[in-house]
Amino acid sequence: MISLFYLITGGAFSVFLIVLAIYSIGEKKTRAAIISLISSTVLCFIWYSGYTLLSFPDYLLAIPLTFALLLVVLFFVPFGDVHPLSIGEVKKRVDERDVIFSREEYLPGTEQYEHYYRLRPEFREIDNHIRDLPELLEPGGRYYDPVKSTSIDHIFDVIENLTSQVDGPASSKRINVSQTEITSEIKKLVLLLGADDVGIAKLNPMWVYSHVGRGPEQWGTPIENNHKYAIVFCIEMNYSRVEKAPKLPVTEESAACYLRGSHISVSLAQYIRSLGYPARAHVSGSNYQIMLPPVAYDAGLGELGRIGYLISPKFGARIRLGAITTDLPLIPDKPIAFGVQDFCAKCRKCAINCPSGAIPKGAPESVRGVEKWPLNVEKCLQFWRQTGSDCGLCMRVCPYSHPSTFVHNIVRAGLKRSPIAHTLSVWGDDFLYGRKIKYDRGSSKKNNSVIKRHRDHESSS
Ligand code: SF4
Ligand code: SF4
Repeated sequence: MISLFYLITGGAFSVFLIVLAIYSIGEKKTRAAIISLISSTVLCFIWYSGYTLLSFPDYLLAIPLTFALLLVVLFFVPFGDVHPLSIGEVKKRVDERDVIFSREEYLPGTEQYEHYYRLRPEFREIDNHIRDLPELLEPGGRYYDPVKSTSIDHIFDVIENLTSQVDGPASSKRINVSQTEITSEIKKLVLLLGADDVGIAKLNPMWVYSHVGRGPEQWGTPIENNHKYAIVFCIEMNYSRVEKAPKLPVTEESAACYLRGSHISVSLAQYIRSLGYPARAHVSGSNYQIMLPPVAYDAGLGELGRIGYLISPKFGARIRLGAITTDLPLIPDKPIAFGVQDFCAKCRKCAINCPSGAIPKGAPESVRGVEKWPLNVEKCLQFWRQTGSDCGLCMRVCPYSHPSTFVHNIVRAGLKRSPIAHTLSVWGDDFLYGRKIKYDRGSSKKNNSVIKRHRDHESSS
């Protein structure tokens, strides 16, 4: 009996490794495919030679068998506490004027510039330095490509045009709705419109920005958004495009997802207003009124990771978020915890691979009442401007970002509750995919000539 179990267990491990190799070939992960195949062969040889060549008795076969089964049990069976994201009392709202994407738009000589740096002189030097770098998607960035960069820029222009449609008066004829039915209807509609996951949050007023920092509304005016709920959704970013980070395909993918998200939120907000309830879409790039990651966390879409943004249990860090705030009566979801805080404490892969050093490698800190890893946004944006793309290397290397396939979902199941699974998965991910990834750093020579061409063109026109 023991020998039969022994043979089945060895076979199951080998088959798993072969399946992993097949999936790795599909994911174009050559190193992982080779390692899995070699491991499967070595395991088969060692495991079965104990039974065939060496003819071990049952009591000797029981030792590796017990060890292997114990490992499986410890990997999957939940034990220990899951540490959810720790959110204490948040007393102050964030001012959108302080957000790095607002700050980079304050041009020297403008009223905004003078006003802002009188309020925040500590940011003047670093922001001036960032503004001196080539603008994102403009000539001078390492990966700048006149055709591709222009096409991505164009998508962002289209998104910006949608900001005029984010709000409007609700219909005077209010339709009475059942909370349960409309919640289910709204979720179905969001998915139908192209989102990949959706949740509802009770809107925490502390996640609403205090003052307008970007977009068509008057800069610096206080933001009044007292809506009760937020409908939050995520869009999965294409795996193979994210794998090309930090080159332009990842930026192209971000832009395409933001465009899809903008369409979803604008059309959903219009629909809700036509039911007679106020609703505002929060569209990328220029006029968010709310901080999306904590609202998405409240809506049960994922957890905040070391990476600085939301990690979805289904798609990892490969997501873009969108939201609509409203007074339509909805049933809110609850935040979820699936082991991200514990796993991130051990993993650190995003921090190790971040080329700008923007992601902290140490323990989380309390930031305005939230226990998190604070991202150095200035370093991150500086790198974006140098490369001319939105980088995404952290998203690419995150072990949660693997595609939702059979093998990766098995690992995700273990990561939910088991500290053993956390440790083994960090080792396994490094072993199969490498701790530090290599990426094409482009050619600065090419970029210098691009800058020169651009300047020549500007001076002749
Ligand atoms: S996007 Fe790039 S530079 Fe920014 S935090 Fe991620 S890896 Fe670092
Ligand atoms: S790479 Fe690792 S540490 Fe960074 S967010 Fe992903 S799981 Fe957390």
